[in-house]
Amino acid sequence: MGRAELAALRGRLAALPTLREGLAAAGFDARGTKRSLGQHFLFDLNLTDKIARSARAPGAPSDAALLGATVVEVGPGPGGLTRSLLAAGAEVVAVEKDERVAAVLASLVDAAEGRLTLHVDDALAVDWTALAPRGAIICANLPYNVATPLIVNWLTAPWPLWWRSATVMVQREVGARLVAAPGEDDYGRLAVLTGVRASATRLFDVPPSAFVPPPKVWSSVVRLDPSTASDAPVAMLEAVTAAAFGQRRKMLRSSLKTLTKDPEALLAEVGIMPTERAERVPVADFVRLAEAHAAMTARAKP
Ligand code: SAM
Repeated sequence: MGRAELAALRGRLAALPTLREGLAAAGFDARGTKRSLGQHFLFDLNLTDKIARSARAPGAPSDAALLGATVVEVGPGPGGLTRSLLAAGAEVVAVEKDERVAAVLASLVDAAEGRLTLHVDDALAVDWTALAPRGAIICANLPYNVATPLIVNWLTAPWPLWWRSATVMVQREVGARLVAAPGEDDYGRLAVLTGVRASATRLFDVPPSAFVPPPKVWSSVVRLDPSTASDAPVAMLEAVTAAAFGQRRKMLRSSLKTLTKDPEALLAEVGIMPTERAERVPVADFVRLAEAHAAMTARAKP
């Protein structure tokens, strides 16, 4: 997309009704939001612009942070963030579960002139590589109830990952679990999986008052950038961390009994003290544990 086309698109976006008007025109006002779908909407376009800028593609100009990028958005809702993504130059593929949103977004789809594709579907069930065959940037204000399974789904996708970065608004507590380091209270399975596949940065926090209707908790915008190399055995890693953090305060020689009959042999293989506890084990050591367990399991097979 060239500069002139982007300027014309921005003009069409600016001429759209407000987000509240768009919802009301489709017979879907803020009182009709569904808590079961985590519907807490953002009407402040300065904030949605800030989130879109945070997803900036490498090499993109600062005044068009997503120029030339395909962006996958989960849950466009009334379309505030979607407008910001389009105005930043992105081509947007949006997946929304609530079919009422199709009517709300009709005028935005028109204004986007082919740069916004809306799929009414469950983001937990779609095939992302079919929706974005050339890869994509993920940017979304995620529904709280499915944020963690979605992020786990993206992190455990075949390597190399289909997404180039993921900038997501999540509950602040989930954000803390994504970026936690060993020794911190929030360090657990999610932090290890994230650390294996990506680097995670907590960018900024957003108060409940920014949303309509306001949720009970604060939110955080977190950016994940895939690591340059990671052929770690992710399924085995998940089995190891499930056992280790299943009883996080116990010593590994005890907690890993749900994984293997002989935890001490496994720990000796990678040089980790049997008295160590999961909450202090660095990501790289979990990877070595997963690799050693895979190798020992293969050796033990008749
Ligand atoms: N992006 C909008 C914004 O920032 O105002 C809405 C964000 S709201 C937190 C989450 C959106 O995700 C809602 O529109 C909701 O209907 C949608 N949603 C909830 N569960 C979903 C799922 N499983 N798949 C796709 N969309 C979902």
